Amino acid sequence: MRQPKFKNINVTCPHDCPDTCSLVVTVDKSSGKAVKLKGNDKHPITKGFLCNKVNHYLDLVYNKNRVLYPHVRIGPKGSKGKFKKVSWDYALKLISKNIKTNLEKYGGDSIQPYSYSGTLGMLGYWGMSERFWNKVGASRLGRTICIAAASTAGIYTYGAACGPAIDEVLKTTLIILWGTNVASTHVHMVPFLEEAKKNGAKIVCIDPRETRTSVMSHWHLQPKPGTDAALALGMMNEIVKNNLHDKSFLKNHTTGHEDFIKKSFLNIILAK
Ligand code: SF4
Repeated sequence: MRQPKFKNINVTCPHDCPDTCSLVVTVDKSSGKAVKLKGNDKHPITKGFLCNKVNHYLDLVYNKNRVLYPHVRIGPKGSKGKFKKVSWDYALKLISKNIKTNLEKYGGDSIQPYSYSGTLGMLGYWGMSERFWNKVGASRLGRTICIAAASTAGIYTYGAACGPAIDEVLKTTLIILWGTNVASTHVHMVPFLEEAKKNGAKIVCIDPRETRTSVMSHWHLQPKPGTDAALALGMMNEIVKNNLHDKSFLKNHTTGHEDFIKKSFLNIILAK
């Protein structure tokens, strides 16, 4: 019996992107090369969708201009900078020589390792080089390049840098999209929002801008930039005043809510 020439492999997008899209890659068994890639439409969350960047991933992987070997700059930096391809041995020796020279002359903190996650995975991101840089006393990288603000907000709001599960949306009747343009930046949520809408859920979008998300919402609130803390306090006031807050949730999962209700701005409003 003739063996099939191709095989399909289920994989996950390698990018450091919370969406973690599910992909099906078709591989030519004789060459071992990927020949086709598409979103896995059987995946319950990502439903066959891939962003443009990854839809064309094979062009990138097999692109003739892809940098596959070390290069060393020759001549000045900037637009006139030229690079020469070198061997891995040469590159490693050069790096090691420069590190040693800098350590001797200026100390470890003259060296700034610079990296981020990209397609590294947890081992490459956190594991491989950390001990080495620690040992040589290198400067540390404040990893604020990507999602520091979002992570901090997540930790303050949920206790961890994560959001609610996407399919929870289907269990709710009121969805507040506060300062988030999901149609552009959280695309996998859109089908869930559409389904929730069909089930009768109301969608409120809070964003000073009109966006692709605001137009798909039932109600678009446009606070002036920087004033949404007042909006949040006003909402809390209404919730507490009408005794709509979930006291057992507050007790079990938050800290400081009693003080906040007693002493804060809320109290001033409530006293009026
Ligand atoms: S949205 Fe794009 S980068 Fe993010 S996981 Fe999906 S395919 Fe990858």
